[in-house]
Formats: sequence, structure tokens, C-alpha cells
Amino acid sequence: MAVNFNRVEFVLSAASPSGFIRDGLPQLAFAGRSNVGKSSVINRLVNRKNFARVGASPGKTAQINYFRLDERAYLVDLPGYGYAKVSKAERDRWGRLMEAYFASGLITCGVMIVDARHKPTADDVTMASWFYDTGCPLAVAANKLDKLKKSEIEPNLALIRQVLALREEDRLVPFSAEKGTGKEELIQILDDLITGEG
Ligand code: GDP
Repeated sequence: MAVNFNRVEFVLSAASPSGFIRDGLPQLAFAGRSNVGKSSVINRLVNRKNFARVGASPGKTAQINYFRLDERAYLVDLPGYGYAKVSKAERDRWGRLMEAYFASGLITCGVMIVDARHKPTADDVTMASWFYDTGCPLAVAANKLDKLKKSEIEPNLALIRQVLALREEDRLVPFSAEKGTGKEELIQILDDLITGEG
């Protein structure tokens, strides 16, 4: 049976590895640069307006937020990266937390949010390589598609695929959290991965 993404509840925030959930349910790890629209994508997927906090203040973001989906999987909201005004101490905290989570073996599947308008940043490329190192499948949502002209879509998607060095099996989904574009496709991909058909 398909995982019902509308059945979602916040579980906890982890600021250190001792808080990681290790109960065996699949974990879908969402990562993205600050302001790329990760919260908006999550809210769109679960059909809520203010579930993951849109525009959450950077600096309070070095924590991992767990949401349970339909009692069957976790949507894991990883802290955003690339925000220029974060202190070194905060960046170090972010690095330690992420390193521990990526080394934990807990990730079932990665979901990276990138900006459909731009070439992925160096940080995006690093993040993709962290996912590759886990050996888990990766889905990339190219968000803010609504801001592109139709003629820009294909070349931009090709550039994203190339710069992130996506593997053949990694899915790239044109997405607009604002309009809802790509929602069903991404849910289907994640559902297949959770239920083991991916
Ligand atoms: P986060 O920092 O990655 O969680 O990003 P947010 O979800 O807080 O979004 C950052 C900004 O981008 C907000 O002003 C959103 O309204 C806007 N935004 C997010 N997704 C989209 C989208 O698909 N299209 C457009 N046009 N704006 C978006």
C-alpha cells in the first residue's frame, strides 16, 4: 500500500548523535542550501502550510528534525548549508552533526533540493558526494521551476545532472513548491524506495 504522505507528525529534533532515531524505519534525508526552498518542498509533499518552518532563522538550524510518515518512514530534515552569515562555531557544529549522521548508516535515501535556476554550488556538489559515499539512492528536486522560462528548463536540468555528477539511476525531478509541480512524481519515487520497489 502506498505511503500516505498526508499522515505526518513531528517527532523530535536531534542536535547531537545521541538524539538520532535508530528504530529501523526507513529514513529519507532531505538536504539543501539555506533558502533553496527545502521547507517549502517538505510542506508541499505533506500538504501542510507551516509544517517544516519556512524561512527558519539561520543560526538555529544545526539540528536534524524528524517527521514520521504514515508510521512507516521518517522524513529527516537536515540543517541547511551555505548560509554566509553563520559563525565558524555554528558551521563546525553543523559539520560534526552532518558527518555523524552520514556515517551512521541510517540513511535509506537522499533527497537533495537545488535551485532550478542556477548551476549547483560547490556546497551542493559536496553534499551530493556525501550521499554517494553512503551508497544510498539519491533523488534531486530542482525547485523554483516556476521562475524559469520554458526554454530554460531542459538545459538547466542537464547542467544540474552534469555538475552534481548524478548517476544514471539517480532521479532528477523538476519541482515547484509554490505551484505543486513535481509533487506526485517525487512522492512516487520516495514511495517506491520506502516500499522496496525502487
Ligand atoms: P529553506 O531555507 O530551504 O527551508 O527555504 P524556504 O522554504 O524557507 O524558502 C525560501 C524562500 O523561497 C521563501 O521565500 C519561499 O517562499 C521561496 N520559495 C520556496 N519554494 C519556491 C518555489 O518553488 N517557487 C518560488 N517562486 N519561490 C519558492
